[in-house]
Amino acid sequence: MNARFCACLLLASLLLLTCFVRAAEPLPIFDAHMHYNLEARATWSPQQVIALWRHVGIKAVLATSRPNEGTLDLMAQKAPDIKIVPFLRPYRVQPDRHDWFVNPEVEVFVGKELRRGIYRGIGEFHIFGKDADAPYMIKIARLARAKDLYLHAHSDEDAIERILHHAPGVKLIWAHTGMSTSLDKVEAMFALYPNLVGELSYRGDLEQDGKLHPQWKRLFLRYPDRFVVGTDTWVTQRWDEVGQLIAFYRRMLSELPADVAERIAYKNGFAMFGLQ
Ligand SMILES: [Zn+2]
Repeated sequence: MNARFCACLLLASLLLLTCFVRAAEPLPIFDAHMHYNLEARATWSPQQVIALWRHVGIKAVLATSRPNEGTLDLMAQKAPDIKIVPFLRPYRVQPDRHDWFVNPEVEVFVGKELRRGIYRGIGEFHIFGKDADAPYMIKIARLARAKDLYLHAHSDEDAIERILHHAPGVKLIWAHTGMSTSLDKVEAMFALYPNLVGELSYRGDLEQDGKLHPQWKRLFLRYPDRFVVGTDTWVTQRWDEVGQLIAFYRRMLSELPADVAERIAYKNGFAMFGLQ
């Protein structure tokens, strides 16, 4: 074998190896529903969280923590390879989730948090049915629209429609895409409200008989720019499941054309918040 032939062989092998490594790279993930709450902070250090994200291929997160200091802790790590999009969570303590929209103390707290000037959205908050007509909910929705902030709402379809009626055009991430809202209703809502984005955590019905549910598949193909995935680490135990949750999303998304899978996995989140 002459030297030139050997060099060619080596180059060809290296090229082949690069191709294999690329093919094996898992789909990057934008986690659009992440909480780093007080209880989790006692178990998981910010460094451990960043290491976990690196390990599972999470490149960016929509962070919404109770209290917001959890999010600030993560941002303070300044991890160059993990982008953190901070959302203002209107909860100081867990019970705020039940009455935040009628609690004047929460209103003062949110006003103070907003002055940090760092938040890209407000939420995740919980509101259902007629409660979405509360004057403070209306105020928050209109404020979000005026300041070009997203809302991140854990709500039934009734509350989502009320919010969108009070502030038409506000950008809204629908946590869990309603969780139990029928797919027919989801489909109708997506047709009606072009500013609605569906986040997919706790939608166990994504999978049917080990495969991506055909109606979900149809929805993803029809609205490839309007879905995002999330882990929803709302209790500390969920942190142990992050790897499994991401593997589940990758398995479901693998049944879609690559460009649609990439959008839902991370490109939509990156585009929504202008990330590179
Ligand atoms: Zn949540």
